[in-house]
Amino acid sequence: MSGGERVAGKVCVVTGAAAGLGAAIRRLLAEHGGTVIGLDVTPAGDDGLWQVDIRDETEVAGAMRRVVAAHGRIDVLVNNAGIAGPRKPAHEVTAEEFDDVFAVNVRGTWLCTKHAVPHMPEGGSIVNMSSMYGLVGNSMLPVYHASKGAVRLMSKADAATYASRGIRVNSVHPGSIETGSTASVRADVTEAARRYNERTLAAIPLGHRGEPLDVAYGVLYLTSDESRYVTGTELVIDGGYTAL
Ligand code: NAD
Repeated sequence: MSGGERVAGKVCVVTGAAAGLGAAIRRLLAEHGGTVIGLDVTPAGDDGLWQVDIRDETEVAGAMRRVVAAHGRIDVLVNNAGIAGPRKPAHEVTAEEFDDVFAVNVRGTWLCTKHAVPHMPEGGSIVNMSSMYGLVGNSMLPVYHASKGAVRLMSKADAATYASRGIRVNSVHPGSIETGSTASVRADVTEAARRYNERTLAAIPLGHRGEPLDVAYGVLYLTSDESRYVTGTELVIDGGYTAL
């Protein structure tokens, strides 16, 4: 699969764009004609990647203003940045750990939406990265599940709200995808982690984990005009995990 200019001329902002899914999304949107600005908390390595912490409202607002100063508008926002948080049962999680996860996954997603929407013309598209874990439970990551469930419903509420402005909002729900963040879970040698990894892999009907590009193609569809009648929906890309 290649070629085409499915987001030609669109100004796209992708958060968490330095690594993993965000890096793949950034590349694919650019290959398809988008002008892509990546935001990431890690130090920026090149022109198209700006160092921005999405937990910080001043930084987020400033970044969106800079995009508009340079490119005139924001057509696409991909709220991809997220963290997994503590891998332990709810009763062992500290209040600080809870707040850290919500600060990035929920508050950061909301802040980027808040400061992008005023610059979004009709035809705009917001894609929020939830997870299959925003749809179903599992052991190990209680705060993550809560945060991704929140992202799922924030997407639907914003879809209902911004439809009148011609802006679409959808959520994407990846299953287990091979990235740096899941590599650290897979590298965990504790007995609980080993059983968790085995059980998760065994529960994927397609029999293997996904690649970042599998998710990036879903995002490409939702940001392109091909999905112009699609809003408030959940695109699940999980090898069938949640079908069982
Ligand atoms: P990753 O850790 O490989 O990359 C995430 C990027 O987000 C990193 O570059 C990181 O620096 C950046 N980031 C973290 N906090 C930030 C902040 N405060 N401000 C700006 N940038 C920040 O993760 P990934 O696996 O590529 O996951 C990307 C998204 O997809 C996350 O929202 C994650 O929850 C979701 N997701 C991933 C999987 C998977 O299997 N990999 C599955 C379901 C959902």
